[in-house]
Amino acid sequence: MKKSEVALLLTMTKSFDDRVSVDEARVEAWHAALHFSMDFDTAKQLVIDHYAERTNALMPAHLNEAWRTVRRRQIEQEQAKQRALESVGAPPSEEFLRLMRTQMNTLFTDTPIPEDILQELQANPCPTCHAPSEQPCNETDKPHPARWDVAREKVKNP
Ligand SMILES: [Zn+2]
Repeated sequence: MKKSEVALLLTMTKSFDDRVSVDEARVEAWHAALHFSMDFDTAKQLVIDHYAERTNALMPAHLNEAWRTVRRRQIEQEQAKQRALESVGAPPSEEFLRLMRTQMNTLFTDTPIPEDILQELQANPCPTCHAPSEQPCNETDKPHPARWDVAREKVKNP
């Protein structure tokens, strides 16, 4: 999200909750704390969901946690779709490949992964769960540690 979007998000949060103030320092702090991959539309919905269910003041940690849950669900849905496609012999969909990058790039890291490591993560199968190249790891939200080791090693010794 851009800082201008974080400011709008805080303004919206304030309309639910008088404990929240909106000023430059707060926008700056939230912008720094919110997960870099969170999009504005989802964030707005997460604010609504928070105040629909809870009375405590919203903190960036609440949004980050909810964001990870949203992403995990999207990946699970896409993996299920992909398994159905594979069962009829279809190639991976664009959406699946995009989400696979998401799994590797943003779900559990706070900074983007360097492009060369990302490419090697995708290009090599996983030694742990035997997910083939171009496929995300099985039954996990993030690549297995051994797959990271392979990718780092390949970048070091191409
Ligand atoms: Zn794996």
